[in-house]
Amino acid sequence: MINSYAEKPDFDKCIEAATDLLYQQDDLFTFNLDIRKLKYDRTIYFDSVQGYCVRVGVPIRRVMFGKNRLLKEGCTVKGDDFYLVLYNEDRRSFERQQWTMAHEIGHIYLEHEKDEDKEEAEAHCFTGQLFIPDYSLYRIVKDFNGACVSDIAEIFRVSNAAAQRRWNTFFRRKTVHTGKKDQAIWEMQREKVELYFYCKQNGLAFNREFFKYGKKRDLLKTADVISSFSELSNLFV
Ligand SMILES: [Zn+2]
Repeated sequence: MINSYAEKPDFDKCIEAATDLLYQQDDLFTFNLDIRKLKYDRTIYFDSVQGYCVRVGVPIRRVMFGKNRLLKEGCTVKGDDFYLVLYNEDRRSFERQQWTMAHEIGHIYLEHEKDEDKEEAEAHCFTGQLFIPDYSLYRIVKDFNGACVSDIAEIFRVSNAAAQRRWNTFFRRKTVHTGKKDQAIWEMQREKVELYFYCKQNGLAFNREFFKYGKKRDLLKTADVISSFSELSNLFV
């Protein structure tokens, strides 16, 4: 008999793993959380399954079709000391591809050996936390009056369906993860959230304002480097 207790998903473990991954990023002020550009502590490559098949000379039909097909949305190839995440580039939506890749990252970080119901539920939980962290969602609901599901979809660049599911789970659960890392992640995300609600209140297009503000932010960063550089060079005059 299968021990059903052992087969239950460990959601706390998933939330912790996704939180750790977000926490090790230098900056989370991004319009989209681009999974391919995150900082990982293991070697992970990304490729489209279509591109990969061409490169290794495998007929795409063998991977994509028939009863032994490997892939509908995405999959991970495990090498000796690296992982290769493959995604289906026919799925045109950026959000969908990102979500698929994050799901695969979840399998990698949770060290899954199989892909059954428990592993699927865990990878899904990991992905939800990665895109929409528990504590950040809590702060948005608490600090920004009238925040709703469509705001969450816009802020975190996920589909409305994904935002809705996350929203429902959030309100069903009675506890919020409020550790040091959760708060640090919120601090990295707060700037974008504040900008979003500022745009909403003032009838401005968030995407345009985001990129304008992002440029100013980059300039400030560069200026910081220049001023410290000139300070440094003054020492040598
Ligand atoms: Zn999976």
